[in-house]
Amino acid sequence: MTTNRKPLISGNWKMYLNHFEAIQIIQTLSYQLDASDYEACDVSVHPPFTDIRSVQTVLESDRIPMILGAQHCHFEEKGAFTGEVSPGMLEKLNVKYVIVGHSERREIFGETDEHINAKVKAVFKHTMTPILCVGETIEEREEGNAQSKVRGQIQNGLKGVGKERVASMVVAYEPIWAIGTGMTATPGDAQEMCSFVRDCVKEIAGGTTADTIRIQYGGSVKPINAAELLKQPDIDGALVGGASLEADKFARIVKYRLH
Ligand code: PEP
Repeated sequence: MTTNRKPLISGNWKMYLNHFEAIQIIQTLSYQLDASDYEACDVSVHPPFTDIRSVQTVLESDRIPMILGAQHCHFEEKGAFTGEVSPGMLEKLNVKYVIVGHSERREIFGETDEHINAKVKAVFKHTMTPILCVGETIEEREEGNAQSKVRGQIQNGLKGVGKERVASMVVAYEPIWAIGTGMTATPGDAQEMCSFVRDCVKEIAGGTTADTIRIQYGGSVKPINAAELLKQPDIDGALVGGASLEADKFARIVKYRLH
């Protein structure tokens, strides 16, 4: 089946850039990207919570068609959860995409598949779109367990989520060994795993859903490797960490089609 999946390039700023720096990078990016870039792909930025209001103001007042994202949220609406931010709070700031289950959240903060499934549902409830991250460690890959790990993360992450919602969301395949290490998966390996992700979605939610869902690759995406990765038939975008912290590099990734 032929598809029309618009690529989504997302910048995950992690715990970098204060709100002054955030405004600066958004303004620089807005000079570097033009209408043809936004026509060719969707672009989202995922700043730290303290920057979101400032970035929202700049995007809206300067009518910059970049999409506002967040890196994480709690699954409850409100409550005694010190330090947490609710999906409703993000929705009020016009956040559209929320990264859910990033490996740093899973590995450092102990998020489980059950938490992640609850977050996927909570994000949808607030009319935002989850970017569900999945991926294996180097040990799991070397032991031949990459696919079973990823299949489990997808099955658990999507439990009880309706087909239409699954079709509208994004899965980011991010091999943990490639995140922030400079070790990118080869385009062939990334394609193989993204195609596998699509097969898993097909098993759960059927062929039409699998054909519609967008699958990003993440893990040391840079201007030099973006085009080869994004050329792969099952890779519909990139989740970019380090290289999204410099306007120049991120803009070159967004413009991958020109390289
Ligand atoms: C990420 O933060 O999801 C990521 C892929 O980081 P990096 O691009 O730095 O590997």
